[in-house]
Amino acid sequence: MSKYDAIIIGGGHNGLTAAAVLGKKGKKVLLLEKRPILGGIAAGEEFHSGYRTTGLLHDTSNVRPYIIKELELEKHGLETEHHRPPVALLGKDGGIIKLSTEMATTTASIQQYSSSDAERYQSYEAFTQKVSKVINDLMDNPPPDIDIENLTMANLVVLAKKGMKLKGLGNATMMELLKVAPMCLADFLNEKFETDFLKAGLAAPGLYGSYAGPWSAYSTINLLLWECAAKYHVKGGPEALVQVLSKVAKTNGVEIRKDAAVEKIILDKKGRACGVRLVAGEEFESDIIGSSCTPKQTFLNLIEPFDLDYELNYWIEKTRGRGTTGKVNLAVNKAVALNGETVQYARTGNSFDEMEKAFDPVKYGEVTDAPFLDINIPTIANPALAPTGHSVVSILVHQIPYDVKEGWTEEAKQILYDNVVKELEIYSPGITQSIVGSEILSPADLENRYSLTDGHIYHGEHFVDQLLTRPIPSCTHYRTPIEGLYLCGSGSHPGGGITCAPGWMAAKEILD
Ligand SMILES: Cc1cc2nc3c(=O)[nH]c(=O)nc-3n(C[C@H](O)[C@H](O)[C@H](O)COP(=O)(O)OP(=O)(O)OC[C@H]3O[C@@H](n4cnc5c(N)ncnc54)[C@H](O)[C@@H]3O)c2cc1C
Repeated sequence: MSKYDAIIIGGGHNGLTAAAVLGKKGKKVLLLEKRPILGGIAAGEEFHSGYRTTGLLHDTSNVRPYIIKELELEKHGLETEHHRPPVALLGKDGGIIKLSTEMATTTASIQQYSSSDAERYQSYEAFTQKVSKVINDLMDNPPPDIDIENLTMANLVVLAKKGMKLKGLGNATMMELLKVAPMCLADFLNEKFETDFLKAGLAAPGLYGSYAGPWSAYSTINLLLWECAAKYHVKGGPEALVQVLSKVAKTNGVEIRKDAAVEKIILDKKGRACGVRLVAGEEFESDIIGSSCTPKQTFLNLIEPFDLDYELNYWIEKTRGRGTTGKVNLAVNKAVALNGETVQYARTGNSFDEMEKAFDPVKYGEVTDAPFLDINIPTIANPALAPTGHSVVSILVHQIPYDVKEGWTEEAKQILYDNVVKELEIYSPGITQSIVGSEILSPADLENRYSLTDGHIYHGEHFVDQLLTRPIPSCTHYRTPIEGLYLCGSGSHPGGGITCAPGWMAAKEILD
């Protein structure tokens, strides 16, 4: 049996990051990926003959800048733009507001609908800029250790520094942050703006991947996390990031095996992780195993049930990750305009009432008939993804329950598709006749293809109780109660999204 310094399970962007960091420190690392391609959710794939996507997801602006720098990703070919890509917010009456990092352009766009909104958008941006110092400090470091029974001087210093950062915001901003963080998105944004589709479009990222509507308490936190983190947009999308991370991992000596599904993590007689066994039967030895699979998959599938402590089993089972996202990819035989304009990224929502109504059926296991959409037309940046003059329309469909009552039958998927196309037709009249191919992924398909437990896009909900102690208090610092087993995927701090951060921080913890 071959022995390694570390084995990483899963070749998504976090597994690749963890492996690359360990490899860079001279460790002998084996990375095992179940699928025939690397990248996990971020892998680009052909979905209809001649039409490709650049990965399931759209937004790469959360990749942490310090990781890009320290892994020298740009030297290995990663191209980034130091801002979030422009996005259009669409109203059902044909309205369109374009948000970009150019404040003057954005306010001019908002001004067409409301002067007061244009003015208030500047103070909204100024607020998120200021609080991003505190929020990014939380994102870019392991969660503070608040175990009061074992409080060391070093931990106290970390906590004191966090307190100083908060104080450094100044009284007015600090009080505003403390006031708005527990609010629901609708109350928070209603205090600031009056244009319905502007408010709905701004709120949308705060609801992605959450089991919440705009009137759910604490939903503002998710929006702040998203608004404050976004910085670097990767040219070529998630697929480009994965290619560079794989290259860096290989350069750092990591051995990568694809089509290598891990069946079990092997524990020795003392209950310590000591290797893995593949479904195909092959075994590999290591005292360090990093799993970038979901926490539920790691503990409930990859560990033999009789090896799992009752308490650990109980709390892992209780973590929440109820999938609410579907995906529809469309192959379209023409250029696509949205509300009359050529835009690559767009969000719908229209109003808080409509977004809340879209969430209602989720609670009862029904498919909403008016989902809100996050649209990316990647062929605008890269026409080579489709035949000349054609388009790929990649749509994240929100408020689609994993546990739909009748199960995700072909009929249920057809309803999902019909509802998405009906919505899209509002913003792009006539598109239905131009669709020449499609792919529909229900949350159950996301679970089957990408091993996402309950189809949850972030390996577990981002909610206030599942943030700083992610996934559960005894596994918060990437270590787990099973000696030698670490978590290094989106189920760990700082959570889901294309950040590379859980993989990075887990590798640092392993090296420590
Ligand atoms: C539809 C969708 C849309 C999203 N949109 C966005 C977005 O716009 N912006 C954003 O920032 N984030 C988005 N996300 C979230 C983001 O994509 C994820 O949080 C992130 O990609 C997860 O990366 P990861 O490396 O932690 O895990 P994954 O990418 O899930 O990688 C885990 C890997 O482990 C492999 N694996 C599983 N089981 C085994 C096994 N037994 N043996 C070996 N390998 C195994 C899997 O095949 C997979 O490759 C989206 C996610 C989805 C699903």
